[in-house]
Amino acid sequence: MRFDPDKLRSEFPILSTHPGGRPLHYLDNAATAQLPRAVLDAVSRHETESRANVARGVHILAERASMAYEDARGAMARYLNAASPDEIAFTQGTTAAINIAAQGLGAGFKPGDEVVLSELEHHSNIVPWQLLRDRTGIVLRVLPVTDDGRIDLSALDRVLTKRCKLVALAHASNVTGAVTDVARVVEAARAVGARVLLDGAQAVPHGPIDVQALGIDLYALSGHKMFAPNGIGVLWGRQEVLAQMPPVFGGGGMIRHVTFDATTYADPPKRFEPGTPPIAQAVGLGAAARWIEALDRESVVAHELRLTGRMLNGLAGIAGTRIIGPTGLQARRGVVSFALEGVHPHDLCQWVNDRFGVALRGGHHCAEPLMRRFGLDGTSRASLAPYNTDADIDALLEGVADARRHLA
Ligand code: PLP
Repeated sequence: MRFDPDKLRSEFPILSTHPGGRPLHYLDNAATAQLPRAVLDAVSRHETESRANVARGVHILAERASMAYEDARGAMARYLNAASPDEIAFTQGTTAAINIAAQGLGAGFKPGDEVVLSELEHHSNIVPWQLLRDRTGIVLRVLPVTDDGRIDLSALDRVLTKRCKLVALAHASNVTGAVTDVARVVEAARAVGARVLLDGAQAVPHGPIDVQALGIDLYALSGHKMFAPNGIGVLWGRQEVLAQMPPVFGGGGMIRHVTFDATTYADPPKRFEPGTPPIAQAVGLGAAARWIEALDRESVVAHELRLTGRMLNGLAGIAGTRIIGPTGLQARRGVVSFALEGVHPHDLCQWVNDRFGVALRGGHHCAEPLMRRFGLDGTSRASLAPYNTDADIDALLEGVADARRHLA
């Protein structure tokens, strides 16, 4: 069936609401994407028909809840092309997943071992490694960023040494939209015997990922950026990698046996899922993965690229704007950051919200090192989902031009 963004829009109840008394032009999808009816219904059905705790009871609701939770794990294993559902550990989101990876992998690191990051990382892929560094004496090395907002992979030769144990990079940037050339990173990492972790927060909403084809070791993602509820995400890891990682949080559900002398732990993924998990949220995530899989991916990608091109051209045509990121459409997502000379991003975002109903994000986007690289303390950012239309881009461009006339 032909992809029709207007029809798709109608699957998202919130998009036909009029917050502030005008149509909503939601262009803050990189922060959080909206929920389609398929996900809302799956969560609601679960809570009304199957609500119970998982893996603990034998009554009918406990069985239903456990099956639904494991079914969601299976859906995420398929979405990521994991070798087994056992490679899918549910977490609170990308931040939690990277923290678990840092503490888990870090247990095997020695002082002087190196972890390579990049200058465009989200704070979620910087601070967990700094916490680890401060505890263990590892060394963090940083790949620079090119003038067009990409990780400068020509620096790999210089930055990766034999002491490197892990390369941890964004799969796609939440500021510049640049997509990382993973094959090149994996080749360089393998050459020095290092593992590779990808922060997939901005890559997963755009369609299934093949972690096996990528050839990586760990992948972190958030449900709320891929049309699923808040409070759920995934740490995917190759089985042998997860098996080497000790648990980070202790509690019920992650153990084999407990005595006061010694406790033994469950195998992954349960080892990383202590306590009662966010069950309905996981069910919603599974439904979201299925919903994305059912989209006509080629048409969605073409649609988003066309709208991205319109944003880039339109913004370039407004005097005083500066795009922070690639200005072409190659290897980039529909995340467009820009600065407007003489206008603070918060003022611009407020202006287009109040007068044009355009939801943007303004600030440092949890990427302060990248802002410093470009000599800014923030940008305005528009980010797309398949339900965005030309009307959203028209409103954005009209709003930015208007803000320039009144605020610059
Ligand atoms: N990494 C990237 C690239 C992101 O864009 C985000 C969120 O904006 C995160 C990590 C953190 O995700 P969460 O807040 O869902 O844990």
